[in-house]
Amino acid sequence: MKEYDIIVIGGGPIGGYIASNLSKKDYKVALFEKNKEIGTPVNCAGLVTSRVFDFLDISKNDCIQNKIKGAIIHSPSNNILKIGGDKEHAVVINRKIFDQKIIDSAEDKGSELFLKHNVLSLFRNDKKVEIKTSGGFEAKSNLVVGADGPYSKVRDRFIEFEPKEFIRGLGAEISNVSLDSDFVEIFVGENIAPGFFAWVIPTNKAGTTARIGLCVPNNSKKAPKYYLTNFLKDKNTKKIFKDAKIKEYIGGIIPLGVIKKTYADNVFVVGDAAAQVKPTSGGGIYPGLLCASNIFSVVDKAFEKNDFSEKTLKEYQKKWTKDFGTELIRGMRFRSIYKKLSDNQMNKYIEKFNDPKVTEIINKYGDIDYPSKLVKPLLKRIPFLLKLVPNFLKK
Ligand SMILES: Cc1cc2nc3c(=O)[nH]c(=O)nc-3n(C[C@H](O)[C@H](O)[C@H](O)COP(=O)(O)OP(=O)(O)OC[C@H]3O[C@@H](n4cnc5c(N)ncnc54)[C@H](O)[C@@H]3O)c2cc1C
Repeated sequence: MKEYDIIVIGGGPIGGYIASNLSKKDYKVALFEKNKEIGTPVNCAGLVTSRVFDFLDISKNDCIQNKIKGAIIHSPSNNILKIGGDKEHAVVINRKIFDQKIIDSAEDKGSELFLKHNVLSLFRNDKKVEIKTSGGFEAKSNLVVGADGPYSKVRDRFIEFEPKEFIRGLGAEISNVSLDSDFVEIFVGENIAPGFFAWVIPTNKAGTTARIGLCVPNNSKKAPKYYLTNFLKDKNTKKIFKDAKIKEYIGGIIPLGVIKKTYADNVFVVGDAAAQVKPTSGGGIYPGLLCASNIFSVVDKAFEKNDFSEKTLKEYQKKWTKDFGTELIRGMRFRSIYKKLSDNQMNKYIEKFNDPKVTEIINKYGDIDYPSKLVKPLLKRIPFLLKLVPNFLKK
């Protein structure tokens, strides 16, 4: 049985980022990925802020397909709210290239990558964790990092908590459209994506290609395919999609509602495995990287003390909660309010927001990584919103 300092399970962006940084610090790292290729299949819309690149030593230019300055939000009755437009608010990335570059960087720094190795079993033995993979490989280590996505095996095996909710996403890469490439378009409503929203993200500067998609709760009566088919022929989207050609479908699961405990003896869970995902948008790349950045000093301390017990590892939870816990909790509060809104209420609120003084506030304070920062200034301007979000700002 081969022995490593740290075993990382999951070759997504968060697992790759952790492996890369731990290898840089000269730890002996093994990275296991069940798929035969990194970044495939793609299950992401690829909309992030440039902040994600602050964590990574990969070139932005290799990954960025387009820059986004604002959003056009369509209410169920197709009233339009246009926000932003002034500066870059987000970038569109090619997820396959993004993931591959992160893993390349981990390998360059010395991580040993095992593709096509599904980790099938994990157990604790003699203060270490032992794993077995579908490739027949056996390994052990002092620490295991579960970066194995929404249905994490590491979380199932060692952590007694689950994300509160799983939502299902479906989308497609399309061509033959004519969009303003500076703006993403967002559609809401019972017939479009109940409990969430649908998106059209221009993926090139010419606005001729896009990534579209939507999410619905796991327990929704109809499957995402039903809503995607409707979305493509809805009266509000007809103009966009009339000549569109679907090139490839994208789908996946998003875990929401951060779990209470993200560590155990010898174990961390990170990224989607820990539901470190913004509940307002389903975006998990920035929060996953931010939370994961708190692991490294805790790993150093554990090796210094030769103590891999949860007493030492729980520092990770304290640190990431300080960085992003409030945002995740407020995001879930917003989500529980949002899920209950009727189409009529959505029409009403979107109309209320369509006031230059309100859009000015949104443009000034809006930040897709920290949406809750918008609430206080918005409440000042539209006090009746307080009725809708009475406990929103509670710590
Ligand atoms: C439809 C959709 C749209 C999205 N859009 C956005 C967006 O626009 N912006 C954004 O920031 N986020 C978006 N997300 C979320 C984003 O994709 C995730 O938050 C992000 O991929 C999380 O990274 P991760 O490394 O934690 O997990 P993942 O990317 O899920 O990686 C986990 C890896 O672990 C591997 N694995 C799982 N189990 C095992 C095992 N037992 N053994 C070995 N390997 C294993 C998997 O194959 C996978 O490669 C979207 C998600 C969906 C579904």
